[in-house]
Amino acid sequence: MSKEEFRRFGHELIDWIAEYLEQVENLPVLAQIQPGDLKAQLPVSPPQKGEAMEEIIRDVDRLIVPALTHWSHPSFFAYFATSTSAPGIFGELLSAAFDNKAMLWRTSPASTELEEVTLDWLRQMMGLDAGLTGIIYDTASVSSMHAIAAAREGVELRIREEGMSGRKDLPLLRVYVSEQSHSSIEKGVITLGLGQRGLRKIPVDSEFRMDVKALAAAVEEDKQKGIVPFCVVATVGTTSSSSIDPVPEIVPICENHRMWLHVDAAYAGSAAVVPELRYILKGCERADSLAVNPHKWLFTPFDLSVLYCRHMDLLRRAFSLVPEYLRTPEQEQVRSGSDYGVQLGRRFRALKLWMVIRYFGQDGLAARIREHCRLAKLFASWVEESPDWELMAPLRLALVCFRACPPPAEADEIVRNKRLDVLNEAIMHGVNATGEALLSHTKLNDKLTLRLSIGNIRTTEKHVRQVWELLNEQLKLLLAQPAS
Ligand code: PLP
Repeated sequence: MSKEEFRRFGHELIDWIAEYLEQVENLPVLAQIQPGDLKAQLPVSPPQKGEAMEEIIRDVDRLIVPALTHWSHPSFFAYFATSTSAPGIFGELLSAAFDNKAMLWRTSPASTELEEVTLDWLRQMMGLDAGLTGIIYDTASVSSMHAIAAAREGVELRIREEGMSGRKDLPLLRVYVSEQSHSSIEKGVITLGLGQRGLRKIPVDSEFRMDVKALAAAVEEDKQKGIVPFCVVATVGTTSSSSIDPVPEIVPICENHRMWLHVDAAYAGSAAVVPELRYILKGCERADSLAVNPHKWLFTPFDLSVLYCRHMDLLRRAFSLVPEYLRTPEQEQVRSGSDYGVQLGRRFRALKLWMVIRYFGQDGLAARIREHCRLAKLFASWVEESPDWELMAPLRLALVCFRACPPPAEADEIVRNKRLDVLNEAIMHGVNATGEALLSHTKLNDKLTLRLSIGNIRTTEKHVRQVWELLNEQLKLLLAQPAS
């Protein structure tokens, strides 16, 4: 592509993106297509000859946009609502242009050193302990898996060298999580060859936090059976309800039994940049590692997850492998990202986070997160004030868990919950089908629960009021329908 063409299409595309972000709220949040619709419109074979850029861009409009679920829509309230931002987009653009593979320091000194500095800034912004060093991975699933791998390396069972299969000398190794932990931890445990049997799920209290007494008892019981407890993963901000495990009480159990404490703060960790919310990380100053996702609530485009680790030596021991073709004269002086994980080549992700932090500043980031929490509180107050709705979990941060609960109040709880499950699922699908907002659900205490997550930089009170109206309209509509 000539320089002139590159400029022309580049300017066009930036205009296109500006327009998209301006207009995205007029598009349906949830892709209004059926499975297979897009595939049916795409040629089955690649083009033999190159095509005009104009045509390719036209097809983005014609084919791709209608097949998108718009995470950038201000009424995207599902899963954990997240959003990109202008400085983050610019960071991605530059990083694509540089196309660095930060496998070794010398293959991208900028990426390597900017990552170290930016993650230290973020550590300070979150009020984390100076003993924690950050490293970027793509997702929290991968950050946590690496943390568990480092924890296992610390057990000194020569697993790196000898593996786990076929070994009669290896005891069962165990990781502990709460029943509300994210499935990624279980996947990490499976990936590391520890098996699902290697994960023990601890019950939670009435506010969905890990029951610390049950944890202590489980560890004791396992030890008596010859099992080796080596890691606890506490969650700060669970996916279903944003509950916060009691980290300060989990710490002494880990210390007593010499277990690694990893904190999954993928979602909620970002909130610690708000000074008055920093309490959510209480106890984490004694954790061995902590994962946080700037791609969730720090306006950084997907993907960028950070693992903070106190024992980089163990992480390195678990993963470093330097063949001759990667040996460099400066390797003892510098950090090379590939020493700390599965990947060799690493994207220049730090650039976008650096640009986001510089553009907004800690105050700007904190103001936006604070506003999201205010909006969630407002929504929760409407739920609480209405006889037809109820909260299903204490409100923490910017995730509201609720359900419709109109009369009759059946005496039999099981019958009542069954009716409400069906009703709430229909409400959710009804709202989502309008294309005007998107919600997702979970189960809490086995009851279908709607989740409203506020985390998009473009979400305002207007959007939160609209979704409340939509929910009430759906409820009315469904109640007016004759029972089938
Ligand atoms: N941990 C928690 C608490 C989460 O809520 C999520 C995703 O929502 C994850 C981990 C996984 O995140 P990722 O998609 O970055 O792997």
